[in-house]
Amino acid sequence: MKKLILISGLILMISCQEKSKLDPNVNPFFQDWTTPYEVPPFMDIKNEDYMPAFKKGMEENLAEIEVIIKNAEAPTFANTIEELERTGKLLSKVQRVFSNLASSNTNPKLQELQRELSPMLSAHYDKIVLNEDLFNRVEEIWNNRENTDLTKEQQKLLKDTRKQFVRSGALLNDSQKKQITEINSKLSELSTEFGQNLLAETNGFELILNKSDLDGLSDAVVSAASEAASQKMDQAESEEEKEKYKDKYVFTPHRTSMYPFLTESTRRDLREELYNSYVMRGDNGNETDNNDIAAQMAKLRAERANIMGHKTHADFILEENMLKTPDEVYDLLIQLWKPALKRAKVEVADMQAVADLEGKDFKIAAWDWWHYSEKVRKEKYDLDEAAIRPYLSLDNVIQGVFNTTNKLWGLNFREIFDIDSYHPDARIWEVTDKDGSHLAIFIGDYFTRSNKRGGAWMSSFKGQSNLDGRQRPIVVNVCNFPAPVGDNPSLLSFENAITLFHEFGHAMHGILTDVTYGSMAGTSGPRDFIELPSQLLEHWVSEPEVLKSFATHYETGETIPDELIEKLLKAGKFNQGFINTEYLAASLLDMDWHTMSEVDAQKISNNFEKNSMNKIGLIDEIAPRYRSTYFAHIFSGGYSSGYYSYVHAAVLDSDAFEAFKEVGNVFDPELSSKLRKEIYEKGSTEEAMDLYVNFRGRKPIIEPLLKIRGLDGSSD
Ligand SMILES: [Zn+2]
Repeated sequence: MKKLILISGLILMISCQEKSKLDPNVNPFFQDWTTPYEVPPFMDIKNEDYMPAFKKGMEENLAEIEVIIKNAEAPTFANTIEELERTGKLLSKVQRVFSNLASSNTNPKLQELQRELSPMLSAHYDKIVLNEDLFNRVEEIWNNRENTDLTKEQQKLLKDTRKQFVRSGALLNDSQKKQITEINSKLSELSTEFGQNLLAETNGFELILNKSDLDGLSDAVVSAASEAASQKMDQAESEEEKEKYKDKYVFTPHRTSMYPFLTESTRRDLREELYNSYVMRGDNGNETDNNDIAAQMAKLRAERANIMGHKTHADFILEENMLKTPDEVYDLLIQLWKPALKRAKVEVADMQAVADLEGKDFKIAAWDWWHYSEKVRKEKYDLDEAAIRPYLSLDNVIQGVFNTTNKLWGLNFREIFDIDSYHPDARIWEVTDKDGSHLAIFIGDYFTRSNKRGGAWMSSFKGQSNLDGRQRPIVVNVCNFPAPVGDNPSLLSFENAITLFHEFGHAMHGILTDVTYGSMAGTSGPRDFIELPSQLLEHWVSEPEVLKSFATHYETGETIPDELIEKLLKAGKFNQGFINTEYLAASLLDMDWHTMSEVDAQKISNNFEKNSMNKIGLIDEIAPRYRSTYFAHIFSGGYSSGYYSYVHAAVLDSDAFEAFKEVGNVFDPELSSKLRKEIYEKGSTEEAMDLYVNFRGRKPIIEPLLKIRGLDGSSD
């Protein structure tokens, strides 16, 4: 293992040595990487190396599968399931590098490759998962499982492997398989159409204003709207169209344009107009209406679930999750729904009081919410974001999260400078355990840049496995924080700091993982569980003890004042009735769409959503976070029957953190080590609920979440 060398001349020499080990005439993916910790030799990989490596990787993968199938010996766990784990090494090697860089450091060539590769890869994986000979071997092992001596981890791997085949249709007869293929292809067409209609509907409305319509708007909002108008002018194809935008201000039903307007504008009539354009998207009875598409998709999904042997689509989806049945999901959502709605009604009353005091003669409506809640916020929860940033330089916050995991698990971080990264901003650390042994490589790529996609995420360049020796992972966090300006450091908002802790929580899941089989490592668990390790770590950044340990003013060195911390924590409870109500309404709507039997799905009425919302008593002042006709998560993304996952994970993380609160020490050694052993190390080697119960000693309860979000009545 290489140690950090402090003499710069030597660093250069080491780099040269490392580089010379790769043969420049051979594709780097076809060579062993002798870089420290097998960090990909980024500087040696060229755009044109990917496609040949993908092709060879897929070929090798299929050849390996052939060897497993052709094995004359009777199928066993070792010669089939375990061997499957060993297949596809080259493909994974190239795929990890490619998919990471295509997201964090892309270029036109990589984007083109992405489009080319996506159908190739899905056809490749279909060949494996629809391979009957392979499934027959798996099925034989499954049927004999009672007579074989498998560890708990092996039993779970066998179950998961088989399930993957079964969920792709392996148990169906040929005519059923054909039906499923047809349904899948129809669904994929409809979901694309849904997305395109939504785009057209969102782009199809503009609120074009004169200077005299801008009452209440701040300079920043006005100049963004004026900028939007001049962009329209530049794109205009005729003089007449140009004239339409001349000296005008444009707002659209995109949230980034709409929310500032709804918050600041004192023109109630215009707020109503813009708001309605947003909530009516896809529901205008024109050629881009999405009502019928949603209904057709629900029908097809119900039909597919029936063929697969499930009662409803939700049953089919939830089989994979921590909550296993629609009843369990409804139970959770309804339990949260009641206090959220109650709190929302208090918030309406607070806003009405402000409006009455202003002498306004109207009842608060949905389009008034942002404007009047902002007034309540200023009065009750005022927090100056700008006052916090100087305490949250990026380096401070990184140090904060390192300190936190050091106090929890004894981890140490050492920045490495003698390995080339894929971009100068992507920094590399070695993570060592409390006994000094190597745990992982961590790459942190924090600044926004034009060739990076938006948002923040965790991924890995190398997975973890103990199957053929101890293989430790290379994990990356990518964010879009503001780059430093001049000599000043990058200063984060508190929300950014939370994001950094969140992504680092995912990273910890990937770094601490310690399982035998790579496919079960780290973040491989169900959707309603995998946000637990990330959201849980967020709780530490709000602890005054933790904040004070790293949040020092970048100029004066002063520690963040108590008064500021207090305001910060109180502000977290603002508007939670609204936030939770709109979210839960959408989650319930998602469940209603997907718990229909095939028969019921045949007679979906136009009033489906209205009935669904009336049933739970949603108030007029709030619309679901997504109405059906623009609910892209469930009709053009992968979240059908899964939108509830976010709040489920929040129940888990609040309840898990409460364990530390109960013992009065957020770094309690016994709890920390249990948390590591039962949650962060285990990947998906056990059922997620079992893992949780092993840690907490019981199933999760919702009370800690209600308290944290101010839905326990304490804020009323
Ligand atoms: Zn996350």
